[in-house]
Amino acid sequence: MIGQDRVFDVIVVGGGHAGCEAATASARMGAKTGLVTNSFSTIGSMSCNPAIGGLGKGHLVREIDALDGIMARMADQAAIHYKLLNRSKGPAVRGPRIQADRKLYLKAVQTELSVTPNLSVVEGEAARIEFWKGKVSGLYLSDGRRFGCGSIVITTGTFLRGVIHIGERRIPAGRVDEKPSISLAESFEEIGFELGRLKTGTPARLIGTTIDYSALEAQPGDSEPELFSTLSDRVINHQVNCFITRTTPKTHEIIRENLHRSAMYSGHISGRGPRYCPSIEDKVVRFADREHHQIFLEPEGLDVPTVYPNGISTSLPEDVQTAYIRSIPGLENVEIERFGYAIEYDFVDPRALSPALETKKLKGLFLAGQINGTTGYEEAAAQGMVAGINAALTSAGSDPVTFSRADSYIGVLVDDLVTRGVSEPYRMFTSRSEFRLALRADNADRRLTAMGIGIDCVGKARRERFEAYASKVKEATEFLKSVSVTPNQARAVGLQVNQDGVRRTGFELLAYPDLDICQLEGLWPQLSRLSPEVRQAVENDARYDVYLGRQAAEIQTLKAEESRRLPEFIDYETIPGLSSELKSRLESVRPGSLGQAARIEGMTPTALAILLNFAQRSGRRENAA
Ligand code: FAD
Repeated sequence: MIGQDRVFDVIVVGGGHAGCEAATASARMGAKTGLVTNSFSTIGSMSCNPAIGGLGKGHLVREIDALDGIMARMADQAAIHYKLLNRSKGPAVRGPRIQADRKLYLKAVQTELSVTPNLSVVEGEAARIEFWKGKVSGLYLSDGRRFGCGSIVITTGTFLRGVIHIGERRIPAGRVDEKPSISLAESFEEIGFELGRLKTGTPARLIGTTIDYSALEAQPGDSEPELFSTLSDRVINHQVNCFITRTTPKTHEIIRENLHRSAMYSGHISGRGPRYCPSIEDKVVRFADREHHQIFLEPEGLDVPTVYPNGISTSLPEDVQTAYIRSIPGLENVEIERFGYAIEYDFVDPRALSPALETKKLKGLFLAGQINGTTGYEEAAAQGMVAGINAALTSAGSDPVTFSRADSYIGVLVDDLVTRGVSEPYRMFTSRSEFRLALRADNADRRLTAMGIGIDCVGKARRERFEAYASKVKEATEFLKSVSVTPNQARAVGLQVNQDGVRRTGFELLAYPDLDICQLEGLWPQLSRLSPEVRQAVENDARYDVYLGRQAAEIQTLKAEESRRLPEFIDYETIPGLSSELKSRLESVRPGSLGQAARIEGMTPTALAILLNFAQRSGRRENAA
């Protein structure tokens, strides 16, 4: 722990999911990094449900892993229930998810940070950002300490002017039992950032021993778990079941009768909540004809006594929570360890950021996580990775890196945020990506690890493992593309293919949905030596090959468009032919490229052509100069 003033290359504020990923990425890249956080003991806390991953979110975690981030490895160390969501659908939309022991997760993260070279943890409250001539120069803590730095990453989650709501009660807090960040919010305003208000909620925590599981449906984890990190090699912990129950008409009646006591419905909360993760009050009102809503009872750990009832987050008062929870099958006699609550907090409009997550107002200041209007550990960690990498690069005087929508969900997330902004807490879905066939959870390392190696963000162990694996996949793919059979030869070994006289390569045969490498071993016995992970990669690549061909052409177009830079200091007012509304949107977003401009709300093909023309003329002027 640091007690004295000193200088860091990079300071990260906040030890949540964004902060831990930002701090470890920056330290891995060799930057002297200080992680300033309220308390060491809350580093790695899971504020809400004890789970990592899911649809879209699981893809983000695999991408973080591909860049040698920590979230996937920590998840494997804490996992007590593995489930690959959408297992019956195509590999592109499958989402790895784990249920974590929250104590083990926290311990794993704290241990990881303690042994990370170049990283020091400073306990304290960040109060004011210091800057000089448009660039950050240091950070003041509320106890008067000052730390100098090259760049700062702020990842304060729900803490900026956080207020907890339970029924009619309002408690200033960043999270339950933790004080809010007021001075830092004021520092943001002093710099000139526009702050908005959002809200999210969490359900009560139940005492597991008081739940009657006898009538409930058990939901076991997968019998063949898919580990999160490519560096993990086994399931570590004892695995447990989740259980499923559901609300009843009685539950809905109790909620309806008490809606006027809900913080959300009595008008106490002005911030907008996540539409995709509604409170139970919201569900009962919005889906008034439904008699039941499903609830997953998720154990919070192996020797943690509490259970998380996923699906009933709330801002109703304690007595109403007790009454409605006890109207749910299996929970008739349940004891509540902690009541649910809603939290309202300030966020910064992410359109104030560049695609490197650096603020446009102040050089060297980066923002990541819930402060940018997102919700979820995975979305936070993914932004932490981008901001941590770029803070380290910037403090070393190097150019920042950006992630393309065509290469990663991280690129989709950042582009959506900085281009469109948010009107409600943003969470990731596979449907947000126009290239989701290419962005699979199983090929995250082949999409991103080489880039991570190029910027020194990937350690030796992963680099060696990745290079060996990628070359085996390449070798197996080349072999399968070089060998072929006639339909008769295929039929002779029991393969069902069209008898059309067309020779097919081994790779083309794998495009048949019911064929896998095992069945090709009769033709080419050397395939039996391939490891399960290489098989899976080659089979998935082959299955999507036809579609990917089409998508590759689209990706090329997007990349060409994206790579056409727009000059940083365009005066949009002076460009003729653009509507005043569009001029003002362009002025506030300040897109770095034509691709980014194309996704601004209200952009038209004609306006894009005007911008393209402008970019080409500026390019010619620069070349001539
Ligand atoms: P956090 O994980 O909140 O971490 C913030 C860190 O910053 C903390 O370590 C804090 O101590 C530190 N900090 C704050 N201010 C200062 C300061 N001034 N100085 C020093 N340190 C500071 N996500 C979902 O996906 N689904 C949900 O249903 C959901 N519900 C939620 C309900 C609640 C009540 C809360 C609080 C969060 C919920 N989340 C949910 C969100 C999820 O917890 C967050 O999205 C995620 O943790 C955000 O990560 P973060 O790193 O941005 O911030």
